[in-house]
Amino acid sequence: MESREDSTVEELVYDAGAVGGVVVRTGDGSREAIKARVVIGADGLNSVVARRLGVRTEHAPRRVAYTAHIADVQGVGDAGEMHVGRSGYVGLGPVGGGLTTVALVLPLAAVRVGGRDPRRDFFAELERFAGLAGRFDPRRLVRRVLVTGPFARWSRRSTADGALLVGDAADFFDPFTGQGIYAALRGAELAAEVVIPALAANGPVTAAALAPYRRARRRAFLGKWTLERLIGLGVGWPALAERVIERLARRPALADLLVGATGNFVPARAALRPGVLARLLV
Ligand SMILES: Cc1cc2nc3c(=O)[nH]c(=O)nc-3n(C[C@H](O)[C@H](O)[C@H](O)COP(=O)(O)OP(=O)(O)OC[C@H]3O[C@@H](n4cnc5c(N)ncnc54)[C@H](O)[C@@H]3O)c2cc1C
Repeated sequence: MESREDSTVEELVYDAGAVGGVVVRTGDGSREAIKARVVIGADGLNSVVARRLGVRTEHAPRRVAYTAHIADVQGVGDAGEMHVGRSGYVGLGPVGGGLTTVALVLPLAAVRVGGRDPRRDFFAELERFAGLAGRFDPRRLVRRVLVTGPFARWSRRSTADGALLVGDAADFFDPFTGQGIYAALRGAELAAEVVIPALAANGPVTAAALAPYRRARRRAFLGKWTLERLIGLGVGWPALAERVIERLARRPALADLLVGATGNFVPARAALRPGVLARLLV
């Protein structure tokens, strides 16, 4: 096996109508075609493989994230924090060594108004959140602010003749529930279960041979997809978010259930029962 860290996939190569490899841009700027019986697109939110397959689609909510590492944030404990505001939210995650990863997520439409630049004014944007004001020292920024998004992109199909998609390349909705890494790793396991026998057989790796992967993804992720979309959309409605958070504060067992489902150690369907949804709102 050969791993290359200095090469970027730019195009897919087709052979008799099926994906038969990739064209990469190498570290020295030259292009090279690499043949493959199956191409696995694990290239994230902006997946070139998904775009070249023509299966990528985008939906609302269109949100973008500004993330940074900041040292010595006041009041950070062992647990992560989510702060939901009128327009957007902020996640804090202690990553060790006195560092906290800070992600500010805003609606794209709100970012595009008259001269607003959350990357430049990152700390001023954080100060707008009641629970964050005064907790950051801008001099303690240890990594520049990075921007990514918009989210809510997924692929209409995760398989094609000679190719399949995993992780964010297959599906990503919104970072609020923090399920992306689980989905990427579990999706890779599901892919391996289908790709290994498909490669062991002779001949081309067809979409039909890869179809069990698509079905397995649906079985594994349908509840997660539904839950993360419900939560992700709810976060965009401050009055609704406040109501749910107030219910969760009063009902710790309900909060545990929701955290368990978004943390993937409780089946998502347990949190999607009508009685549970009703108790979140009533
Ligand atoms: C602000 C924010 C906060 C998040 N917080 C959480 C969280 O708390 N918990 C959680 O589980 N998830 C979280 N996520 C989601 C999580 O980061 C992703 O779901 C996860 O990283 C997806 O993994 P992946 O391997 O599919 O894609 P990525 O991690 O994006 O990896 C894709 C890789 O492909 C490479 N690549 C891209 N294009 C090419 C190309 N053309 N050629 C070659 N290589 C290429 C990239 O360099 C990268 O190394 C968050 C996301 C965001 C934006």
